[in-house]
Amino acid sequence: MPQKKKFRRGAGLGPVGGLVVLLIFFLLSSRFQLSGSAPEGVESVPMPPAQGQEGPLEVYYFDVGQGDSQLIRIPGEGGYFNMLIDTGEYAYADGLTSRLRDLGVERLDALVCSHPHTDHMGCMARIVQRFDIGGLYMPMLPEDKAPTTAAYEKLLDAASEKGISITPLHEGTALESPAGSAFQVLAPEVDADWDGANNFSAVVRLVYGETAFLFTGDAEEESEEMILDDGNLLSADVLKCGHHGSSSSTSDAFLRAVDPLYAVISCETGNRYGHPHRETVKKLDDAEIITYRTDKDGTILAESNGSTITFTKDLPPVESQ
Ligand SMILES: [Zn+2]
Repeated sequence: MPQKKKFRRGAGLGPVGGLVVLLIFFLLSSRFQLSGSAPEGVESVPMPPAQGQEGPLEVYYFDVGQGDSQLIRIPGEGGYFNMLIDTGEYAYADGLTSRLRDLGVERLDALVCSHPHTDHMGCMARIVQRFDIGGLYMPMLPEDKAPTTAAYEKLLDAASEKGISITPLHEGTALESPAGSAFQVLAPEVDADWDGANNFSAVVRLVYGETAFLFTGDAEEESEEMILDDGNLLSADVLKCGHHGSSSSTSDAFLRAVDPLYAVISCETGNRYGHPHRETVKKLDDAEIITYRTDKDGTILAESNGSTITFTKDLPPVESQ
């Protein structure tokens, strides 16, 4: 079991220890701190002194029908650091482009494909073509399981045409983030091998100050078990439930370990899979977790000031064609 390291500001360190922590903090707080140096199991990250783009952190859970798309905007010295996780189906290409531009996003510092299913990356090629992309990240499936869909091929082509290299995303991959925040990639394991693509989903934990968010793509119970076995800290205030609220995700043990105050489910009214499944909704209710759903609440915005999180719902859905 990996050793868990905790990173607390000056807690019980005395004046000398406090100064050392402060020094390390200033050394690390260049515009986008490389969180490769962040320890596994980050409980909280010290917030930088107010400068540059003022907070809060914004996380948009876009309503893209029966799909997934989340935009993370982390305030930093040079403006917002923008990470887009997933895009929804191809029909959302223009709608998502407009929403991002309306929000003032010109550059995606990180574009993450949780896994290569079209409800998550159907229009990602378009996003690559239309925005300045800092880095493109996605899990690598074994060769015999690599997708052959047009959407996937187009994404690879779009990236190569713009000279964007793809960084394989797996447990431990370092993702840049501004001071005050840290990303941890909890899954998939480097040599993971699963039957379907869902369990190859990148599971990403974002810590901002004392708050944390967990993004799970379509990871299901088997991947959740592996994450639990790996022993990483995965507590989060907000859990985006895996696989659109399917009962094959959000297992009891995983939910207990994440122990969220809030859950978000991304799905479409009347979808043919019956998402979210009754069992998942009941489980969240029983645990008194406040749950937001894109099928009922439209696009959802969570804002964190580093210690508390507030939600705004009923923001417009992303237009589809
Ligand atoms: Zn999906």
